[in-house]
Amino acid sequence: MPATLLAKNALVLVTMDGERREIPGGGLYAEDGRIVAVGRAGELPASADEVIDLAGHVVIPGMVNTHHHMVQSLTRAVPRAQDGELFTWLTSLYPIWAGLTPQMVETATLTAMAELILSGCTTSSDHLYIYPNGVRLDDSIRAARRIGMRFHAARGSMSVGESKGGLPPDRVVEDEGFIMEDAERLIAAYHDPARFSMLRIVLAPCSPFTVSHDLMRETARLARANGLTLHTHLAENDSDIAFSHKTFGMSPTEYVRELGWVGRDVWHAHCVKLDEAGIVLFARTGTGIAHCPCSNMRLASGIAPVKRFRAEGIPVGLGVDGSASNDSGHMLAEARQAMLLQRVTYGPDAMSARTALEMATLGGARVLGRDDIGALAPDMAADFVAYDMSALAYAGALHDPVAALLFCQPQDVALSVINGRVVVREGKLGTIDLAATAARHNAMAAELARLAAAC
Ligand SMILES: [Zn+2]
Repeated sequence: MPATLLAKNALVLVTMDGERREIPGGGLYAEDGRIVAVGRAGELPASADEVIDLAGHVVIPGMVNTHHHMVQSLTRAVPRAQDGELFTWLTSLYPIWAGLTPQMVETATLTAMAELILSGCTTSSDHLYIYPNGVRLDDSIRAARRIGMRFHAARGSMSVGESKGGLPPDRVVEDEGFIMEDAERLIAAYHDPARFSMLRIVLAPCSPFTVSHDLMRETARLARANGLTLHTHLAENDSDIAFSHKTFGMSPTEYVRELGWVGRDVWHAHCVKLDEAGIVLFARTGTGIAHCPCSNMRLASGIAPVKRFRAEGIPVGLGVDGSASNDSGHMLAEARQAMLLQRVTYGPDAMSARTALEMATLGGARVLGRDDIGALAPDMAADFVAYDMSALAYAGALHDPVAALLFCQPQDVALSVINGRVVVREGKLGTIDLAATAARHNAMAAELARLAAAC
């Protein structure tokens, strides 16, 4: 990593700072991965260890992905899971995921992260909740370190199998005592709470239909004792709501209120069916939401009332969700879908391109509990990406290059800088061998499918 970095001369630099400034001809200067100055050429130092000319490019803060299951990139477009809703989709896939190995998790995480980084994402959370055959969260952490992505690794869990009224097969659930011990081990080994941290641990039971009340409570206790954030799935679709009423005799809102799963240190994925009481509760407590429009459409879960969430002041970020219910991990495409999908419910001015971009950057940072990423300003992390506006997709859209990023066919980045380190240059990811990763990934996906077919 160069000690000092100067990126200059952008067509437009989108800061997402307090005034939401967009600077024509803008650039930034960073030292040791931290932004020192943002502005036009005259406002920046004239030289640095590394100087990058961004003429013809739009620069934005690196996007923040708040919900993913990266291992699922091994099971994209699985024929029998193509056309089901959440519960049928899950029960089709659990038996395949039961064959995952540590090597598969590492490779699938590299694939998913490469895809995210190339799309303009620089920080991601990943919710790994299935641990068969010796799989550990360490396997995804290894991948994040290899590829150079800022990472919030969520220690997921499932402890209530079919025989106890849960959804997953018994052979993929874990003992609750072990889950808690493993979480403590991970916190001690990896969690870095410092500003500009590249790695934080998150505690994240999979969902109300896969763990016990006790595990939810114990997890929240352990997270809060260590200053960690909490994450799970909530109120995803109608069957999820029906399960909650039938099994617990309460709505998802009542469930999280009773278990203390609300607050600025908690974010829930989806919330497509969050009720009025839930919206009020989340707004009052600052509880965050990961909105995943592609997955919600793919599984026909519904349209989350994001315009309402935002109007009430609820922190909302975007998530591509697992690659088995989106089958794509493109952050810019996800932001575009978020913008388009709100319009279906609330009309053509429901969400602007800039609002979608704000959710993908600042919104995601806030949801993950960070104030050092998501904007380009002094004392923020040097996480930024640039798109080449000479691409065919943007031809005719340069009246408003920033809006073009969202309205036109989503493109990959020309440049990505994460923590001051150039990870993508001239459109090429430099930290891993992409072709070899994809080949290994495909062989592993075939092996997983073969194992499941033999069961
Ligand atoms: Zn999910």
